[in-house]
Amino acid sequence: RYRDMLSQLFIGEGLDQHPSGKKYVYTGNVGMVMTEVTSENITQVLQEAWITLKHAQKQGNGVVSLFASEMREHELYNIRLHEHLSDAIHHHEFHLVLQPIIDQGDEEHCREGECLIRWHSKALGNVPPDRFIPLAEETGLIIPLGKWVIEEACRELAAMIARGAPKDFVIYINVSAIQLLQQDFAWHLMDSIRRSGLINANVCIEITERVLTSNVQRISKMLNYLRRHGIAIALDDFGANFSSLSYLHTLPFDSIKIDRHFVSGYLGDDKAKSVINSLIVLARGFKVPLIAEGIEDESVKLQLQQLGCQKAQGYYFHRPAEFSSFRCDTGSFYYQHAKPEDKSR
Ligand code: C2E
Ligand code: CA
Ligand code: CA
Repeated sequence: RYRDMLSQLFIGEGLDQHPSGKKYVYTGNVGMVMTEVTSENITQVLQEAWITLKHAQKQGNGVVSLFASEMREHELYNIRLHEHLSDAIHHHEFHLVLQPIIDQGDEEHCREGECLIRWHSKALGNVPPDRFIPLAEETGLIIPLGKWVIEEACRELAAMIARGAPKDFVIYINVSAIQLLQQDFAWHLMDSIRRSGLINANVCIEITERVLTSNVQRISKMLNYLRRHGIAIALDDFGANFSSLSYLHTLPFDSIKIDRHFVSGYLGDDKAKSVINSLIVLARGFKVPLIAEGIEDESVKLQLQQLGCQKAQGYYFHRPAEFSSFRCDTGSFYYQHAKPEDKSR
């Protein structure tokens, strides 16, 4: 009942009876705690209300949430994560793994791959990137962490080329919007490339449609600058958020990666099929290759290939694995017989 009453505030019903005759529009959120407030528990109740408010804010303007004990546990875990995350770089708890990207027309010769971060925390065990990257973005820790990823990716690729991988191997690096908005982003990226003995064409940065929620003009300017210097741009998780369709023609990019949820649902779901078909037409229109992520079996791979999806990535070809586990020699990179990634990592 209280939730409904408070929600009314944001919907705006009944507001026109304000005595002043003016109409007010409220924006914001509410976090509610249902309990008897005493002088003993007041601090805890306020803390719980604050946790609930944060929870509501994440779901959008006008959302009213009621406290549940899982919210407190989630928040406490986030606080612990944050504490350990800030020390993890100095404690050398991160490493990068590589997942090959296959050109469907030439499966023998792989010359591309995406690098993905792994965190083995001494205190918390293995923490998946989906869990800590959003927190790093929220707290700003993504800036030092993102710099570490860039430097480490360049170092790993240079070492792999020294072992015999093709000199034109392209490493795809995931980059968050906040990183792109840093003044020194391009300088740091190109400096890391140069210092590792690589060239700009060895690097492609992956951005998601989420970058479009930030300053689109500044992001576009940065991306154009990088491309002028030979660094490629891939649009990641494409299709996950269609609200950005209207920006597509203003953004510079060199390839599109289809969100793996469409790919994994592809065979059994007519809707996923029609989304992929439209993306293929769209990519053709933009004259850029389409990369299908999350290919887990041969039938999906073959169907996407027939539809004209040029590049592919997924467990079917290879799980993400240590750079050193891939065999390289005399200008070739082999992915077929490398050790699979330990699922627990
Ligand atoms: P993403 O960029 O979409 O990365 C692809 C994810 O799909 C990876 O998950 C990869 O392990 C997983 N994957 C690849 N092939 C398959 C498959 O066939 N089936 C299934 N089910 N999954 C597959 P991962 O490594 O857990 O990374 C999750 C996300 O975390 C990434 O999604 C990316 O958004 C973010 N991330 C990872 N590393 C970095 C990083 O260095 N920087 C930033 N900013 N984000 C990162
Ligand atoms: Ca990616
Ligand atoms: Ca992706």
